[in-house]
Amino acid sequence: MSRILIIEDEEAIAELEKDYLELSGFEVSISNRGDEGLQTAMSEEFDLIVLDLMLPGMDGFEICKRIREEKNIPIIMVTAKTTEIDKVKGLDSGADDYVAKPFGVMELISRVKAVLRRMKVEEKEPVYQIGKVFLDEHKHLVTLDGEKCELTYKEYELLKL
Ligand code: CA
Repeated sequence: MSRILIIEDEEAIAELEKDYLELSGFEVSISNRGDEGLQTAMSEEFDLIVLDLMLPGMDGFEICKRIREEKNIPIIMVTAKTTEIDKVKGLDSGADDYVAKPFGVMELISRVKAVLRRMKVEEKEPVYQIGKVFLDEHKHLVTLDGEKCELTYKEYELLKL
């Protein structure tokens, strides 16, 4: 079962999203603060994060950036203003998709499913081999002469370049 973390300070919205996601077969956790949400995202394993932009403690941009430094986990950004969508796109914030409030919950669900599907396809990508070095795209695992080394997302992307 896929695990989803909702970081959203408007509790009614968070609960609504949770209900519908659970009905669609997902396991869902909620965090109502930005700083706590980041902590949860870092310390537990999730398959996807639904991230509100304006949050107490820490905003969605910062959270997205920090998660991206450590983890290769899909993030869907939720924003209240259409002007913020341009910002989300323009900043290249690292979000995999974004939804503008107010949105239909079904729209969110279909985007969650689409992003997870895309992720699964990427997981099937072969392990790259360059000479004696093997690069595992999904696990960010580098193997040289049988010795394994797990890298952070950033380290891996740099090495791949
Ligand atoms: Ca908010």
